[in-house]
Amino acid sequence: MSEKKFETIAIRHQMQRSAQKEHSAPIYATSSFMFDDAEDARSLFADEKEGNIYSRYSNPNNDEFIEKLCLLEGAETGMAMASGMAAMFTSMAAFLSSGDHVVASRSLFGSTHQILTKLLPKWGITHSYVDIRDLEGWEKAITSKTKMIFLETPSNPALDLIDLEYIVGLAKSRGIIVNVDNCFASPYIQNPIKWGADIVTHSATKFIDGQGRVLGGAVVTSKELFPEIKFMARHTGPAMSPFHGWLLSKSLETLPVRMEKHCDNAMHLASTLEGHPSLQQVKYPFLKSFPQYELAKKQMRLGGGIVTFELKGGIEQGRKFLDALKMISLSANLGDTRTIATHPASTTHSKLSEEERLAVGITPGLVRISVGLEHIDDILEDINKALEASAS
Ligand SMILES: *Cc1c(COP(=O)(O)O)cnc(C)c1O
Repeated sequence: MSEKKFETIAIRHQMQRSAQKEHSAPIYATSSFMFDDAEDARSLFADEKEGNIYSRYSNPNNDEFIEKLCLLEGAETGMAMASGMAAMFTSMAAFLSSGDHVVASRSLFGSTHQILTKLLPKWGITHSYVDIRDLEGWEKAITSKTKMIFLETPSNPALDLIDLEYIVGLAKSRGIIVNVDNCFASPYIQNPIKWGADIVTHSATKFIDGQGRVLGGAVVTSKELFPEIKFMARHTGPAMSPFHGWLLSKSLETLPVRMEKHCDNAMHLASTLEGHPSLQQVKYPFLKSFPQYELAKKQMRLGGGIVTFELKGGIEQGRKFLDALKMISLSANLGDTRTIATHPASTTHSKLSEEERLAVGITPGLVRISVGLEHIDDILEDINKALEASAS
């Protein structure tokens, strides 16, 4: 199937059907699988042949999901995980040992930041943060102990980018593993492995599911690096439920059409809001005014589903704006069919000091919109009315 186009793989890559000839895949709700005989059991356990043993190791639904995701990301192999954080943690813990060092972009998903700052230090693993746009900073932060570079591009919520080709160039000659959390872009928009990244991690909870229903995650990589991930995952147990594997494989079928629409709506929203009298700045990677527009065009197929803007009235107006929305949801998720608004300074990032927030691009009036699939006129009306109501 691998020469087929993205949309076709997303729909047609499927597991072998059973004797029932079902069109849509069944759910393999089973914790274990049977062996034909003692020799079959022995050879499966000895890794001499491929096959299912136990659903903590593999399951047909999870395999269908992950094999398809690998084809879509350009990866050789991978593993489905129970959540995005299970994927982030496993992909780090599998390779890092006491004394190792990680260089990471400063603006990371909150729980990833907690892993780097609170958990990994317990095992003697240190890190340095770099402003994602500071090219020299990346090189300066690397030491002889650096084993991994971890980053998110576009960053959340500031939407800053880093040139993946540049980062891979820094890492390759030094034998450093490049691990990219690609959940903001989704595999339809950006494929870090094609630029040379070693590992791509996902929270499938976001655009991959795209319908706000389940938690899921994935780690995809090369055959060379995979054994460490497989060993760590099999024996520590961050396994995905077969029901979620089934749902997420179904979700991938519509990822291309959903992403086209998310991006279409997001582009429309961003260009309409640009120049609005209540707003200081509107950011969207495919707007000509975006500071890293050229880079966005280089490594992203489309601009993504997230738009941010800066309210002139700061924190106070941010809160008023959220309260004035009638349709758009206030929620901690993103990548849903439903448009979601977040005011990071008063919610997700309220525990940081103002200085820390500014260091990751979170200004007091910053609002993040995860643009959904409703009609753009209704999204615009809700936002315009809330802007009007909050400006007074
Ligand atoms: C949501 C998210 C995660 C964590 O994923 P879960 O599925 O919630 O565990 C990690 N990274 C990014 C960028 C995210 O948005």
